[in-house]
Amino acid sequence: MAVDVRTTAGEVGRVVAELDLSAVWAVDPASGREGPADLVVRDGEIESLMWLEGADAEGIDAKGVVVAPGFIDLHAHLREPGNEHAETIASGLAAAAHGGFTTVCAMPNTEPALDEPGVLALVRAAAAAGGSPVELLAYGAVTAGRKGEQLAALGELGDAGVVGFSDDGAPVRSATILRNGLAYAGAAGLPVVDHAEDASATEGAEANDGFVATVLGLRGWPSSAETSAVARDLAILADVVRDLPGARLHLTHLSTAGSLDLVRGAKAAGLPVTCDVTPHHLALTDEWLAGARRWAWDASGDPWDDGALEAGPYDPSLRVNPPLRSVDDAAAVLAALVDGTADAVATDHAPHAEVDKAVEFGYAANGISGIETALGLLLAAVDAGRLPLARAIAALTIGPWDVLGSRSRRERPGLTEGAAADLVVFDRSDRWTVSSDVLLSRGKNSPLLGRSLSGRVLLTVADGRIAYEAVAD
Ligand SMILES: [Zn+2]
Repeated sequence: MAVDVRTTAGEVGRVVAELDLSAVWAVDPASGREGPADLVVRDGEIESLMWLEGADAEGIDAKGVVVAPGFIDLHAHLREPGNEHAETIASGLAAAAHGGFTTVCAMPNTEPALDEPGVLALVRAAAAAGGSPVELLAYGAVTAGRKGEQLAALGELGDAGVVGFSDDGAPVRSATILRNGLAYAGAAGLPVVDHAEDASATEGAEANDGFVATVLGLRGWPSSAETSAVARDLAILADVVRDLPGARLHLTHLSTAGSLDLVRGAKAAGLPVTCDVTPHHLALTDEWLAGARRWAWDASGDPWDDGALEAGPYDPSLRVNPPLRSVDDAAAVLAALVDGTADAVATDHAPHAEVDKAVEFGYAANGISGIETALGLLLAAVDAGRLPLARAIAALTIGPWDVLGSRSRRERPGLTEGAAADLVVFDRSDRWTVSSDVLLSRGKNSPLLGRSLSGRVLLTVADGRIAYEAVAD
């Protein structure tokens, strides 16, 4: 195996003049093929992808250096404008590239909210000024100021180039507004991305309602609060599509077995619904709140019983919305990813300043800084034999691309000869330790600090240019 990264000085933004990846494991979701290959990039373009066979392929497997198309994140919070001490667009895009992402969709819950084209222009200007080649896309808010009271100017936002509409951080509470939002967004060819939560059932809630929350004395956050909201959203969608077949609903960060069953059924019935799941909801469980640090597929649900506790309880970095769920829910999330009910993995990257997290569990801000650890969590599932590598890559590339449609500058992700190089190179045999120094995000709020993950990212190339390159040690 030889990774010869003779790029131009490794400077972010510079065109990749010459890159030879020889004898690596290539995963190409566009052709559905994976295997040993040589890949050559010249002047920012994929010049050739040669699949190796016979003696040339000997000794090359999926456990070493892997090359895949750059990842697409459908759900990230970049905090600019308004909360730049938690993240800026520049730091968020650097973190994305470190995580292997070359396209990022920013949520509009900034201050001010992205509810009119002026804020989109500001966000785009910040991305351009930062010089990262990572593609920044953005959602517009569904309602003015994300207040849930009246629709934002969806048509205008659509014309300005948003990739969909979301009040994320909060659900679209009003059924009438969701109905109208789906209709207007659908007319513009765009999805409504809903954070499904019946807020009347989660007021003051702290942790997934169940055994762990009971033992820890945390106020329960019922799974039915999500599942019932998904049921409502799907019922409204079914109404809207009768008149407007272009309406599309995307449900983000689904976390319960019930929600995913409903989506599975709705898809089978032909409803235009898609959904994503997060790495933390499939790899972690509410056991972590008690101090367990084992993966969901190794968990029992009772970490006190079998000596699984290795950290202190109530780590505020684990507070997230929706909350880390039960072992059964996490298994359902992973199963939905494997069987395609979940179209995509999205990170819900939610960086916070330390001051908002260094408080008692119940007062901590919701969210995990997760864009740099998403690949590692998925690879943990791959390493455990629970998730095929090609499926993980598809859910980070063509899955989200299909949700976005043509709003990305990229063609359907693949290792396609003649296309602008847009790819990630990572080494599954190279473990790295998550630390606040290593994370490029300003948000150091990760429950994985101090833990080691496989699949260190060596190089990320976006639109033919260097987005991230690991420093040789
Ligand atoms: Zn959300």
